[in-house]
Amino acid sequence: MARYIKIFDTTLRDGEQSPGASMTLAQKVEMAEALESLGVDIIEAGFPVSSKVQFEAVQEISSLLKKATVVGLARCVRKDIDAAYESLKKAAHPMLHVFIATSPLHRQYKLKKEKPEILASIAEHLDYARTLFDKIEFSPEDASRTEHDYLMEVIDTAIEHGATTINIPDTVGFAMPLEFGELIRKIVERTPAIKEGKVTLSVHCHNDLGLALANSLAAVEAGANQVEVTLNGIGERAGNCALEELVMGMEVRRDIYDVDTHIRKEYLYPTGKLLQNLTGLLFQRNKPVFGDNVFMHESGIHQHGVLAHRETYEIMNPKTIGRTTESLVMGRHSGKHALKEKLEHYNIKLTDDQFQKVFDRFAEIADKKKEVYDEDLFSIVSTVLGASIDGYRLLYFHVYTGNSLIPTATIKVQEKEKETVVSSTGDGPVDAVFNAIDICCGITSTLDEYIIQAVGSGKDAQGQVKLMLKIEDELYAGKASSTDIIEASALAYLNAVNRYVLKNITNGHTAAV
Ligand SMILES: [Zn+2]
Repeated sequence: MARYIKIFDTTLRDGEQSPGASMTLAQKVEMAEALESLGVDIIEAGFPVSSKVQFEAVQEISSLLKKATVVGLARCVRKDIDAAYESLKKAAHPMLHVFIATSPLHRQYKLKKEKPEILASIAEHLDYARTLFDKIEFSPEDASRTEHDYLMEVIDTAIEHGATTINIPDTVGFAMPLEFGELIRKIVERTPAIKEGKVTLSVHCHNDLGLALANSLAAVEAGANQVEVTLNGIGERAGNCALEELVMGMEVRRDIYDVDTHIRKEYLYPTGKLLQNLTGLLFQRNKPVFGDNVFMHESGIHQHGVLAHRETYEIMNPKTIGRTTESLVMGRHSGKHALKEKLEHYNIKLTDDQFQKVFDRFAEIADKKKEVYDEDLFSIVSTVLGASIDGYRLLYFHVYTGNSLIPTATIKVQEKEKETVVSSTGDGPVDAVFNAIDICCGITSTLDEYIIQAVGSGKDAQGQVKLMLKIEDELYAGKASSTDIIEASALAYLNAVNRYVLKNITNGHTAAV
């Protein structure tokens, strides 16, 4: 019988720590619901003690999800554990995730604690935690750089004091697959509670050397029965093991792994797209499983092979992961019902208000373009959801430009009750608009990245703008689309500014595991 692998998703915690990926409460709730219908077993909803928004997100997600286990993160500190407990009170299946660093570097420079002190802290805080929780996951942070003997002592202490899951994080993406697999095998062999299945063994791998997936798979092979992942592989620095890559790796090579998960594969791509829409973080074209190029065949030899027999150059069928190959969806006469069905197909749930906005924008774009494609729809949803971040709203813009005058932009933005009109010049129309926005919002920023591309093909295609703004040394992503590229640029810019505003309200500190 196939072994069962639990999927622990940390898109909303580790993933949200990606530069520029912060989400609003409403967006996190939306994502949590999508992840539950995708079939993940466990959702790490946040780090409750770190900020009010994190606390409220865990609380809100706890009260909504019925199937998935909801997790709150805590350091080995009482107030962290208390905050997690308070925020998880309404959860149908709550779980606490406690961590403390164990590697020499972290002991010496971060914690300034000796080995015995750390063991004592684990014992004390897990004893306390188990008066509040039945399910507790414990992580020795930077486990892969911890001395093996000491790591085993840490694991034994954690289990003795009530941990029901032991998670081995490769926090800095340092491990190599062969040694990581050996470490996991060694832990299984020498820990009876894990070997007998009383305690779950989990791994959490980072992608600094591009090995998060390889290390996770090596761990599964060696006996781990839970893997921590994020959708689209987002996360600290180079990110985490990507959920879709792990699930498809185990599916395509079932002959090797022979494991099952509860993931509904046909929701993979739509849910990945939803996350992309919410965060504004695009995947690169050649990203495994989800990239635009994955199912495109340029070379003649490949095209001929795929036409004759798909499997000659494709190891996955795009339909399996919910990618439709026929891109034409709807024209201007398609009604609300058809739009609703399409969104349902993509597992995109919107409030009535959001749906109305998507429909209005859809109708507007369908009036300008002959055909509206799935990609257009994703962009529309993205722009509507992106605009749902509270903050500055574009009321109008005018631009005067040409190659014989100084480009000038006038914009009017609204924030709460306040409306501001500003004019500014620039090197070009986009620069003029950006300068005007900076003055309106009272910020100083540098534009770190600006990408504009057509959504689909045709001269009437929408322009999609993705940009990265640096404000006070932090990066904020913005994304928007419109049939007018100046408008798309202005909306994307405001989207990034609003993420900055949001971050400043929440002013959270973050954790690395
Ligand atoms: Zn991590």
